[in-house]
Amino acid sequence: MTHWLCILVQTPAHAALGSVLSYRSELALPPGTLVRVPLGQRETLGVVWDGDAAQATGELDPDKIRAVAGALDGIAPLSAAWQQLLTFTAQYYQRSLGEVALAALPPQLRGLSPAQVQRRLKRRAAQPAPAPTDAARTVDAAPALTPEQQAVVTQIQSHAGPFLLFGATGSGKTEVYLHCVQTLLESNPQAQALVMVPEINLTPQLEARFRERFAPVYGDDAVVSLHSGMTNPQRLKSWLAAHNGTARIVLGTRMAVFASLPHLGLIVVDEEHDPSYKSSEGARYSARDLAVYRGRLENAKVLLGSATPSLESWHQSRPASEGGRYLRLHMPSRVGTAAGDPAGLPLVRRVDMNHQHRHAVFSIPLLEAIKERVARGEQCMVFLNRRGYAPVLHCADCGWKSECPHCSAFRVFHKIDRTLRCHHCGFTERVPRACPGCGNPDIAPLGRGTERLEEHLAELLADVRRPNSVSAEFPAGEPVRVARIDADTTRLKGELQSQLAAVHAGEVDVLVGTQMIAKGHDFRRITLVAAVNPDGALFSSDFRAPERLFSLLMQASGRAGRDAALGARSEMWIQTFQPAHPLYAALKQHDYPAFAQAQLKEREQAGLPPFSAQALVRAEARTQDVAQGFLTTASAAAHSDMAQWPGWADVLEQVTLYPAVPMTIQRVANVERAQMLVESPSRAALQRFLSGWQSVLHATRQGPQGKGLIRWAIDVDPLAI
Ligand code: ADP
Ligand code: ZN
Ligand code: ZN
Repeated sequence: MTHWLCILVQTPAHAALGSVLSYRSELALPPGTLVRVPLGQRETLGVVWDGDAAQATGELDPDKIRAVAGALDGIAPLSAAWQQLLTFTAQYYQRSLGEVALAALPPQLRGLSPAQVQRRLKRRAAQPAPAPTDAARTVDAAPALTPEQQAVVTQIQSHAGPFLLFGATGSGKTEVYLHCVQTLLESNPQAQALVMVPEINLTPQLEARFRERFAPVYGDDAVVSLHSGMTNPQRLKSWLAAHNGTARIVLGTRMAVFASLPHLGLIVVDEEHDPSYKSSEGARYSARDLAVYRGRLENAKVLLGSATPSLESWHQSRPASEGGRYLRLHMPSRVGTAAGDPAGLPLVRRVDMNHQHRHAVFSIPLLEAIKERVARGEQCMVFLNRRGYAPVLHCADCGWKSECPHCSAFRVFHKIDRTLRCHHCGFTERVPRACPGCGNPDIAPLGRGTERLEEHLAELLADVRRPNSVSAEFPAGEPVRVARIDADTTRLKGELQSQLAAVHAGEVDVLVGTQMIAKGHDFRRITLVAAVNPDGALFSSDFRAPERLFSLLMQASGRAGRDAALGARSEMWIQTFQPAHPLYAALKQHDYPAFAQAQLKEREQAGLPPFSAQALVRAEARTQDVAQGFLTTASAAAHSDMAQWPGWADVLEQVTLYPAVPMTIQRVANVERAQMLVESPSRAALQRFLSGWQSVLHATRQGPQGKGLIRWAIDVDPLAI
């Protein structure tokens, strides 16, 4: 008997061909089954999808419908929940279902024939079975929880969540994750946990900790990693282990949110504020937000953790009486210090750069402090925040900055045509010849790179000698060693690990770097952390820049004084032209809630997320005119055409389309890029609008205004504007 099946395949993102195609099969294959199907000239991986193929075939000649080449036997069908997760992702992020779902599967699965998959599965089966696990045996390596940890764990056990664990760096969040995972695994012999971290660099540390805790009891195969730094065979192996239930704990980066986990009971999202959870290509999904959706879908608890939560999550975790949907849990103290004792956290010191030599990169007091620390055999970390940094013009004489007269934002300096442009409202002017405030001709963009900083610092410290007793290999009396860690110095595999090892071994006295060094790494001997020029983010065109700066500085300060013996003396230095800025005042108090409250108030007044929902449409073309013209035409059509659709006037009324503007980085590889912001106070209205506008954008692409356009894409909940 012939069965007509709907099968999901990967078709080009905007191809006219939908991604659910009809095929026939002699076998009845349930939805979720992985199959090989012919597509054009080639054979490709597909997933049997729930749907009415017969209806689709009504329009097609049954003789033209091709047959499924074969099913990937031995791999159980993907669950209905998994299918629903991918359906939601495609809808919400406005991408084709085939693209999203097939990209969520390990690359090797897409490339292997059914026979090859069989061989791999057999090879796995032939391996010795994992050590028998004794469910009665409990993990014994776990330390007793601190009272703060215990209180949090009790809450997690007695509520459904989702939870936002707001805990200082070093407060023992990871220990809470371990504990929750342990409770889950002990409660149910099949249950699985998904633990996500933002960066590949952080996975080895985390894996070591989980492996050490759980491998002795549940076997080595029970803990697997899933991230893009793995080889394709490793990824397939981990994926299969998760899919067939052998893996009880999956550790991974954002892509792991799509892992097939048939017995998912807990999802942990560590450092939930981190922008890396948002994908920046293809379907621009947020793994954190999908984790919350998935938890609800599969009845799994969701635990988001951070010392500086995203303002979205912070807002979601306001009291339930005010509409909050997450339960906020608080761990304010570092492990090993008394509850509420600020001594565990570094002292924050602001240096007013207005009183320093005009062109000084390092202020005299900071330089003295660094010399003093180094002479004592302690380490320092100097970092330059470049992430999300957009140049802002600034006059050092009168303090003028390139503010937009129409927005609470700063206009971005576009070097290419020497203009100042506001990315919110589009207001544009030529760069003034002299400062509009005082006539000073010397207005300059803020900013400086790490490489120049490293060189400069080495010169400044040339006369300082190392003391003895730091490390035997590098005896006393040698010049100070300054090292740099950033994307440039760590391009090769393993370089970051070896550079970090050098820092830990005491071979480095002063470490210079980007935010890469501010995240997650545990530097015990660093007692001074300095941000030399963090002001840029205060005047960024991106309204999220202050949030990111605050979290970066908090994270960086969390690197200092992890060694209890040195902790009381550790310091975080901020060089700033804005010493009275409330952001730095909150930082000095280590007061994230105060900072968050002030920011949220501003956002509410300006109607920005989380008080509104946004999407960006980006267009790329050879000329800026074509890119902007496409967006402008599609925007005009939204108002003229869509308003005529029955029932859509209402939706349109709730949505604001801003003018098309060039992107901050306007041209990349000779491609001109433009973007248009779409905003609505209602997420549902925005979603509804985008689902309809898709077809208008497609039609515009086909029309005269689409001529010369290279591509366009929608970014829902964009993180950078
Ligand atoms: P976070 O994830 O919040 O930065 P960690 O979980 O890494 O904090 O804990 C910080 C340090 O404190 C680690 O060295 C960890 O081993 C230790 N620690 C955490 N919880 C406990 C505990 N209950 N008893 C003893 N040490 C703990
Ligand atoms: Zn001036
Ligand atoms: Zn503006």
